[in-house]
Amino acid sequence: MSRSFRWAALLGAAMVAASPATAIHRGAPSTAAVAKRDYHARLTRQRDGSWLLDYRFSRAAPVWFFVRSAPTRQGQSWRLASWRVETPGVRLERHGRYDSLVGAGPIDRVRIRITPFAQSLRADYSPFLLFSEGGAAVYDGHYEIYPLQSAEAAAALPDDLNGVPLDAGGRIEIAAPGGRVLYRGVAHRGRFRRDLGGESGYAYVGRTPVIETPALAGIFDPGLPPWIRAELDTFTPRLFALYRARLGPSIAARPMALVSWGGAKRPGTSLGGSVLEAMVVLQIEGAQTVAATPAVLQRVRWFLGHESAHFWMGQTVRYARRADAWIDEGSADVMAVRALERLVPGYDARDAFQREVDDCIRENGPGMALSGASARGNTRANYACGAVLLLAAEGAVRKREAGADAFTWLRGLIDANRADGKVTQADWLAAFDAATGDPALGARVRSYLDSGVADPAAFVAELFAATGVAFSRDSGRIVLR
Ligand SMILES: [Zn+2]
Repeated sequence: MSRSFRWAALLGAAMVAASPATAIHRGAPSTAAVAKRDYHARLTRQRDGSWLLDYRFSRAAPVWFFVRSAPTRQGQSWRLASWRVETPGVRLERHGRYDSLVGAGPIDRVRIRITPFAQSLRADYSPFLLFSEGGAAVYDGHYEIYPLQSAEAAAALPDDLNGVPLDAGGRIEIAAPGGRVLYRGVAHRGRFRRDLGGESGYAYVGRTPVIETPALAGIFDPGLPPWIRAELDTFTPRLFALYRARLGPSIAARPMALVSWGGAKRPGTSLGGSVLEAMVVLQIEGAQTVAATPAVLQRVRWFLGHESAHFWMGQTVRYARRADAWIDEGSADVMAVRALERLVPGYDARDAFQREVDDCIRENGPGMALSGASARGNTRANYACGAVLLLAAEGAVRKREAGADAFTWLRGLIDANRADGKVTQADWLAAFDAATGDPALGARVRSYLDSGVADPAAFVAELFAATGVAFSRDSGRIVLR
């Protein structure tokens, strides 16, 4: 998974006037040079593994909402499940889509006890990563808050806060008394402080040393099954070398990795990953990951291929709005499959792509705009349909250039957008039109993205037929050849 949230603090009277319904109040004007501090958050690791969170506010407001309030996989608030407010008169509540601290009047301070919540969220970073030697990594962006005048105002906030003026500055301190805090590759003794509001990251607190491998520098959980550790050491550099050779340099020369091992207690295989600024986070657990069976080995390699791909499609360039997540996720899926096809003898790319086609047609049904998948909570559609659209682009470029593949097309897309680092839907469609030479087909794709189509299978068949992706129809199902 990749999520590229950037919550900029948007200042300006014009924007406030344009969105009166949100009732976010505006503070005194601040200068760009001096960061305005409306609150200070201190997160302190306790001996028993819990954390104490202390907020001190220098701005009066009865409600502060958490800008990142993505639900758990089960649709619940992770804060309500794992936080306990110890300050009388302040409550933690969920209003609409946002967790909020609610006071009887203006809140000046609040203390909260936190049991680390290390499961994944539906569309955001895991709040904590827990390491088997007792270490923990905490994602600092989850402590960024903004003031409101009422709980009703929190309930009225939209899902996508782009365009909503968020004007407050805060600072976070992550403290590990007697220990060290590792942030972006730098070790800090005892504590680490930074301003919130920019790009967020994980701070690691624990004893495990940083280990250097050819592709990554990282904290590798000492409990990881040795074969997974070996794949990280040997397979990841091969992926990076292939991507670099085909797509040019990535923005992160040698990223930091945090790899946690959740143990073998639960059945099955659980692989969770996210890519942040110059950092990849991998959470691995499950009884079936202990031994390297061929099926699990393939899953782990595919997973490394997908997550590594995000340093190009996700970091070097990235989608501009959540609605365009299909661009990054579809690309990472196709890159992983094409990479494994090159690097792993006997790997069946057709089988992997068939799953994408089947899932896309099932998940993004009649009349569903693909650009609405994130808001619908249908993340699988972003991966599968993003891959289907990229397969069509690959087919088109292959018709013009023998031996070309998805990397050929992606390289053009990346190079055209390196300067601003953004790939919008319009950028993607422009590169697609350049490959097909058929603007009418591009217009069909645009309506699939914007408003959906009546018959998704017929649309995919039309797309593949026009771009030369080989398939047959088997009682309606599209079967790749
Ligand atoms: Zn991803």
